[in-house]
Amino acid sequence: MNLTLEARILQEVIEHAKAAYPNEGCGLVSGTRFIPMPNIAQSASEFEMDPAELIKALRELRTEGEELVAIYHSHPHGPLRPSKTDIERAYYPEAAHLIVSLAELEHPRVAAFRIANGEALEIELRAIV
Ligand SMILES: [Zn+2]
Repeated sequence: MNLTLEARILQEVIEHAKAAYPNEGCGLVSGTRFIPMPNIAQSASEFEMDPAELIKALRELRTEGEELVAIYHSHPHGPLRPSKTDIERAYYPEAAHLIVSLAELEHPRVAAFRIANGEALEIELRAIV
């Protein structure tokens, strides 16, 4: 199992994470685009997508026949893996979870996971140009 994204989309996700720093950034990734989401938790250790924006974005994707491929959020201080809370709050098991670690701000790292049955499994992340 893996997650393949356009390099352009991956870059947009990383830029968004940097812009949200020192708070966590979050957003959705479809097959063709990145949809940034406001983090209403405004926190360096937590994220909560604006529910109204989330519903609107999911509805748009459905209307356009697009799939929710991944849910992204950042960890401003790492680590590069889902937290216990992330695993508990993984409400969309069909989507991959993309985590951007900014523990080294100049060297962002990204990893993808599948979260199911209370477990996070790292999957291969491929960027295509
Ligand atoms: Zn997290």
